[in-house]
Amino acid sequence: MRVLFLIVGGGIGGLATALALSRTGRAVHLIEKDNEFGEIGAGLQLAPNASRMLERLGVLDEIAKFAVYPNRLVWRDAISGKLLTAVNLSEPFRQRYRYRYIVMHRSDLLNVLLEACRASGRISLESGKRALTVEDSGDCARVCCADGATYDCDAVIAADGLWSTVRKFVHDDGDPVCSMYVAYRGTIPASQFSQGAPPEEMVLWTGPEKHFVRYPLRAKKLYNQVAVFRSYRYCEGSDDWGTPDELDEHFAQTSTEVRNGIALMDRSRRWPILDRPPIANWTRNRITLLGDAAHPMQQYLAQGACQALEDAVTLADCVEKYGESIDRAFLAYQEIRSPRTTRVQLEARAFGEFWHRMPERLEERNRLLLQRSHDDYTELDWLYGPRE
Ligand SMILES: Cc1cc2nc3c(=O)[nH]c(=O)nc-3n(C[C@H](O)[C@H](O)[C@H](O)COP(=O)(O)OP(=O)(O)OC[C@H]3O[C@@H](n4cnc5c(N)ncnc54)[C@H](O)[C@@H]3O)c2cc1C
Repeated sequence: MRVLFLIVGGGIGGLATALALSRTGRAVHLIEKDNEFGEIGAGLQLAPNASRMLERLGVLDEIAKFAVYPNRLVWRDAISGKLLTAVNLSEPFRQRYRYRYIVMHRSDLLNVLLEACRASGRISLESGKRALTVEDSGDCARVCCADGATYDCDAVIAADGLWSTVRKFVHDDGDPVCSMYVAYRGTIPASQFSQGAPPEEMVLWTGPEKHFVRYPLRAKKLYNQVAVFRSYRYCEGSDDWGTPDELDEHFAQTSTEVRNGIALMDRSRRWPILDRPPIANWTRNRITLLGDAAHPMQQYLAQGACQALEDAVTLADCVEKYGESIDRAFLAYQEIRSPRTTRVQLEARAFGEFWHRMPERLEERNRLLLQRSHDDYTELDWLYGPRE
């Protein structure tokens, strides 16, 4: 099959890129390995830098139908439950960044993007197509799939996630790096909280080598919960670590509210926390990477999907600017994006270390947090700005 732009991967990054390119008038074909387009059943935080991109993609009004806008992010000590600091997310935040902070269900975001792609008239979507290889022959790139399908393309954008197949054809740096931390996540109906539904704010509890996050979703009828801890049983090549009994051990000494939340956690699946060291070059001629395939990051700044949305819009802007010169467009996209995503990847790691400090360094951290004003946004400007 001959296609102009082929996108590999139908997650948030791939669908947003298809939409962004289609809005420049270009035809796009997208392939997804799974038989259905879908996301895991958990929540997602979208900071103002993501809303700015969703507005450019023309879907922000639709997103608003599914969004919850918390008034505060509250940061508590996981052991004592004591308030450490908070970020006011109401009017002063909106005035500073133009958009409110959004939390929503992942599948609601994916469905909004998917429906917008279907409605665009320039995007064809194919599921059940797993890309296996990609080759660049100078004037064309060829993608071959597990079922024998081949695509000859003017340009390939690989948005195939953390375990990207395409990445090794562009920059072969082995497997992602495991941090020895693991996440449990999922949603709980508000009715399941025996003490009544928790407050309508985002709450983060941090303790030594662990944290717990909770925020409301879907008109506050659901609560998203994420529990993360460092496994002492991590063993390279084995899956037998970060198990539910370790989850219980880790959180046994935490505050009542955290323990009550942990008791409700879905234990059927867990996610090792992985990333990669940043790279400056993720483009080879007609092939480029996007989202987690290019710059997977630890989730501590809640920015992986937000950065994929920024990638999508920037890539389409560069294609628009350089027209038929795909390699120039891809190099320009990478040049704009890689300094920023490098910073986000590195700061996410540093932020995780700050959250998970051991008891001997907690006092210093807590002092810093206790003295900050709840309306102090200076640390966030580089990430959520530009200020408007
Ligand atoms: C615990 C946790 C919490 C997080 N919270 C947040 C948050 O609050 N805010 C935020 O912005 N980010 C968050 N993230 C990060 C975010 O989930 C990811 O960065 C984001 O989903 C990446 O999107 P993507 O489209 O690049 O990749 P993915 O979502 O992984 O999508 C890749 C797609 O490609 C498909 N695919 C894979 N291989 C192939 C192939 N060979 N051929 C065809 N298709 C293929 C996959 O099936 C999938 O559909 C979190 C991550 C974790 C682990």
